[in-house]
Amino acid sequence: MQEQGTYPYFIPISRSEGTVVEIEGRRLIMAGSNNYLGLTHHRRVLDAARKAIERYGSACTGSRFLNGTLELHEELERRLARFLQREAALCFSTGFQTNLGVISALCGKDDLVLCDRENHASIFDGCRQSFAELRKYRHEDMEDLERQLDLASGRDVRGKLIIVDGVFSMMGEIANLPRICELAQRYGARVLVDEAHSVGVLGANGRGAAEHHGVEAQVDLVVGTFSKSFASLGGFVAGPETVIHYIRHHARSLIFSASIPPSTAAAALAALDVMESEPELRERLMNRAETVRRGLTDMGFAVGPTQTPIVPVIVGDQDQLFRFWKLLFDYGLFTNPVTVPAVPPNMDLIRTSYMATHTDEQITRVLDIFERAGRVMGLLGATAPAEPRAAASDGC
Ligand code: PMP
Repeated sequence: MQEQGTYPYFIPISRSEGTVVEIEGRRLIMAGSNNYLGLTHHRRVLDAARKAIERYGSACTGSRFLNGTLELHEELERRLARFLQREAALCFSTGFQTNLGVISALCGKDDLVLCDRENHASIFDGCRQSFAELRKYRHEDMEDLERQLDLASGRDVRGKLIIVDGVFSMMGEIANLPRICELAQRYGARVLVDEAHSVGVLGANGRGAAEHHGVEAQVDLVVGTFSKSFASLGGFVAGPETVIHYIRHHARSLIFSASIPPSTAAAALAALDVMESEPELRERLMNRAETVRRGLTDMGFAVGPTQTPIVPVIVGDQDQLFRFWKLLFDYGLFTNPVTVPAVPPNMDLIRTSYMATHTDEQITRVLDIFERAGRVMGLLGATAPAEPRAAASDGC
């Protein structure tokens, strides 16, 4: 691919305005970020980051456990807990480290963790580090989840935890949390939801997929990241005070890693302010995604069953995927080509995602580019493979 000039990864961006990026002197519309609310360039977020550098310096140079706890981190945790309506919250340096630390701290030998097969890779890595038994159920297949819970009830299992992405990162579907919570209650399991792609996006107040479904009271723990709608970097877990206190003293990825830099923590806190004070951003975001989803479907693209700002275009074949991606790129659109192991085999897809700050003109241009490239590739009128979920994948 590198020889053919179709290698689509590690492309250096030389400048960013959020919805538009510059690459090798060309301007491309960004339809491949997780900057859902477009806050990476919001005045309040930028000002807060600058002020934090002036007050605290460029970095913390140490773990939260030792010299790396700032008043700013504690304020961010208090505000997050209040926003998510949980007793307490704890911040990690990335979302990936959050899942590693939280799952391996809470689960151990003789415990059982049940995961949707398409959960994020960091959840599986956290499970592996925990020494708990890991069982994967078929993607969104509630009968399979129930079967596995049923099997476990005849065995000597200490604790049971169901872990699921609130929104699946590649296909953009919302998890069936009402059914998952119902099964958890029936079989005495706890529920942890990764709201990475849903916090700030879903729910009347932006609290995520659990709020969207009205099941927050049945969800025991919430994890999330600042690298998407929060326009920053870092992760968090929120839940009962005693559990958070325990995680704070047992999560190795928290204890043995430096804390979130001041400007980064301040940016996340300012983004939270904007989320709370500008709810119209969520509505704009959903409208833009819906316009693209409808437009691509009408053109005859195989668009997955998304209900969120993540709009995947299923291509199915790896060779076609990279050629399609390159055409889109050459026509001025930045997207993400996704292949195994991030999606099951033959589900190769172009992942696009939208921002509240995309203009109407940009959205029209996105659709024009897709139509032009789709016609060249003969992809218009395509349908998704009949059995898309036959094999396992690791979400990204
Ligand atoms: N969980 C999910 C569901 C994700 O999609 C991601 C990032 N793709 C993460 C966790 C990891 O977050 P971060 O980028 O902050 O490490």
